[in-house]
Amino acid sequence: MCEKNKRTKGDLILKKKLDMLEELQEVDQLIDNLKGTQTGLHDELNDIAQSVDAACEELAVMKARLSQLEQEKGKLEASHAAELENILRSETNMKEIKTNKEFQAVGREITAARKQVTDLEEQVLQKIGQIEELSGVFETKSASYDELSENSALRTAEKKAEIDKIQQDIDADVARREALTKEMPASLVKRFAALRDQRRGQAIAIARDGYCLGCNMQLPPQLYNNLFKYEELLTCPHCQRILILKHQPH
Ligand SMILES: [Zn+2]
Repeated sequence: MCEKNKRTKGDLILKKKLDMLEELQEVDQLIDNLKGTQTGLHDELNDIAQSVDAACEELAVMKARLSQLEQEKGKLEASHAAELENILRSETNMKEIKTNKEFQAVGREITAARKQVTDLEEQVLQKIGQIEELSGVFETKSASYDELSENSALRTAEKKAEIDKIQQDIDADVARREALTKEMPASLVKRFAALRDQRRGQAIAIARDGYCLGCNMQLPPQLYNNLFKYEELLTCPHCQRILILKHQPH
């Protein structure tokens, strides 16, 4: 009388297949989630490296500017020394000058050169001021860069350790997946993988109370009834997922 207890060997095999498919989906989801977490950690690692690089770049730009200022200062100092020499030479020449006209001309030269010397001294002082100001900023930025760099090294090491730990979990799940698929018919594994690709990671859907929970559509009553027979793999006509029957707990 009781049909439900009259199961053939074929029924049991199908039931086992469905259990394995369900487990396979679970393992694949675990692996996907772990990989997702790993990707997130890799992104964080990139962000850390980028902020260190940006700070380093900023320092390099400042350093280049500082050395440019030093160079400009050096040129001004050389001009200053040259002008002083000119003045000295002109003063020496003056002693040999015979005419008043020549004397006045050299006098004008010396006055112009002295004016130039004063201007150059002022410019050198300006450069020194700029160099001191920029050096101060550079020191501060340099100190915070050291701190950032140290901090980043610590965080990077932490993230890498996390990534490694997750990789161990992934390896374990992959091994579990391999063991599982070895017991399953290759064609079924292939079908599962293709469906999973098409259905955004969900090849299996639970059927309950006449509905497919994969797409929340009502299943044709005959199909739903057939699920109870465990005669063949059945798929949802709406979302094509392989259906697994789950009874509502009473
Ligand atoms: Zn469906």
